[in-house]
Amino acid sequence: MSTQHVQRMSRLMAKTLREDPADAETLSHRLLVRAGYVRRSSAGVWTWLPLGKRVLDNVSRIVREEMDAIGAQEVLLPALLPKEPYEVSGRWSEYGDLLFRLKDRKGADYLLGPTHEEIFTLVVKDQCTSYKDLPVMLYQIQTKYRDEARPRSGVLRGREFQMKDSYSFDVSDEGLAESYRLHREAYVRIFERLGLDHRIVSAVSGAMGGSASEEFLAPAEAGEDTFVDCPSCAYAANTEAVTFALAPVSGEHPALEEVDTPDTPTIETLAAHLGVPASATLKNLLVKVDGEIVAVGVPGDREVDLGKLGEHLAPAVVELVTAEDFEGRPDLVRGYVGPQGLEKVRYLADPRVAPGTSWVTGANRADTHARNVVCGRDFEVDRYVDVVVVEPGDPCPSCGAGLRLDRAIEIGHIFQLGRKYADAFGLDVLGREGKPVRVTMGSYGIGVSRAVAALAEQTADERGLCWPAAVAPADVHVVAAGKAVPLALAEEAATALAASGLRVLLDDRPGLSPGVKLTDAELIGVPWILVAGRRSADGVVELQHRATGTREELPVSEALARLT
Ligand code: ATP
Ligand code: MG
Ligand code: MG
Ligand code: MG
Repeated sequence: MSTQHVQRMSRLMAKTLREDPADAETLSHRLLVRAGYVRRSSAGVWTWLPLGKRVLDNVSRIVREEMDAIGAQEVLLPALLPKEPYEVSGRWSEYGDLLFRLKDRKGADYLLGPTHEEIFTLVVKDQCTSYKDLPVMLYQIQTKYRDEARPRSGVLRGREFQMKDSYSFDVSDEGLAESYRLHREAYVRIFERLGLDHRIVSAVSGAMGGSASEEFLAPAEAGEDTFVDCPSCAYAANTEAVTFALAPVSGEHPALEEVDTPDTPTIETLAAHLGVPASATLKNLLVKVDGEIVAVGVPGDREVDLGKLGEHLAPAVVELVTAEDFEGRPDLVRGYVGPQGLEKVRYLADPRVAPGTSWVTGANRADTHARNVVCGRDFEVDRYVDVVVVEPGDPCPSCGAGLRLDRAIEIGHIFQLGRKYADAFGLDVLGREGKPVRVTMGSYGIGVSRAVAALAEQTADERGLCWPAAVAPADVHVVAAGKAVPLALAEEAATALAASGLRVLLDDRPGLSPGVKLTDAELIGVPWILVAGRRSADGVVELQHRATGTREELPVSEALARLT
């Protein structure tokens, strides 16, 4: 190992704080600020101070090594992007307020990239022309921008944050499956190396589009996601993506009855009200009546989500329809599904819409509503989307055992996108038979800055941060607990440790009591703390292991031998 230089605390820009920041809601937020790793610049925008930057770089390095190992190539795309590609994909409007939008001096529209499927598709369209150029996997570690509705919890949810995003391009479905598998395995290795406890769960693809997706979740109280896992089989899913097997309808149910409702708002009238074409794809269209949510749907899909959902809605859900239109007619808007009928209904979870219940009122034809619609008899549940209310002990959809529920932080998300973006941008390559072949894609994200906070959440204790060795800002924190002899011994130990390749923090700050220095060392959370104190004249130091709290007095030579 090459010699490292000793980072002196007397020179380090890291002012530790005794008090928690007033707005801090989570442990990682409190500790990363108090220990001098990050400082808030504006809402959801953070400055990484030297200690924080070291941890961030350590995470990036591990991510980079594992991406390189599966043959992904690192690139760096701009964060400042023109509007047009995002119009082509539909996400310029689909992302709504989440996008940071700006104009250049000529009035042209730009955005700050929230994720880069569009731009990578264009890069590959420019660079790859033949099936021989594929498969290709590209990645970047880059700053992303999302104007999050609730940028809270420090760097866990930033409006500016670091993401590793990668994209795979293949000519066949098998190729995509292989690229996806490679990423999935690389992610497992990354999170293992980082020391992040994690679960892989089924997820919904949301605005990204595509078919299959899985999330990597780090269990933690501070997490904003809830997932279920089954104690007796491999089933695990974000509660957003829980699928329910339909039980056959049993017992007596009143017959389906159609009622005339000529004033029923249709998909067309809703679309007209919103000022969008009826074919538009809107996410999370909400219909509210007198403040009460009565329907959620997607005009482009000609499907509507049923249920009285008010209390269960995710904060991201956008209200697009005002109450005035439907004043006094809540019965008319509940569950309109358009002329194709009520064959396939996707709806947000409502505990009352269980298989076999008959309270749902839905429409099955223009200007007609149906009474006594029975879930499981009159329509199939495709799957629950967006929000699901699952209680601990609910039956596992795959084996029936009682499910467990836990909170977690989403640290990674991998998608089999399929041909959504290739279709939008006409991404073809010349195939083996000389004919153009449409490319199929995957996209894969890791929240690099979020991973730092997730690690802090999982490892910190009441005394402070407590980093796994792989990401810690230093290997050893040497504390000079006294002037003269202790300081000299600390200097000597620090120099020796650095010479053998360890990254060393040396607390050489004058005029601070040993107690203050030790409290700071515990707060900063480097894996080993070596204290030169009272017994320095005899060449004896104290070696503390931060995670377990074990302390041992031993000759400095032995301590050095132990650490190197
Ligand atoms: P979330 O559900 O937390 O809003 P997301 O599903 O919108 O995240 P993706 O689009 O899947 O995020 O992005 C890939 C990864 O980027 C996420 O798994 C997460 O680790 C990270 N990430 C997303 N949004 C943020 C954010 N605001 N701050 C920090 N990291 C983020
Ligand atoms: Mg999000
Ligand atoms: Mg998510
Ligand atoms: Mg996600």
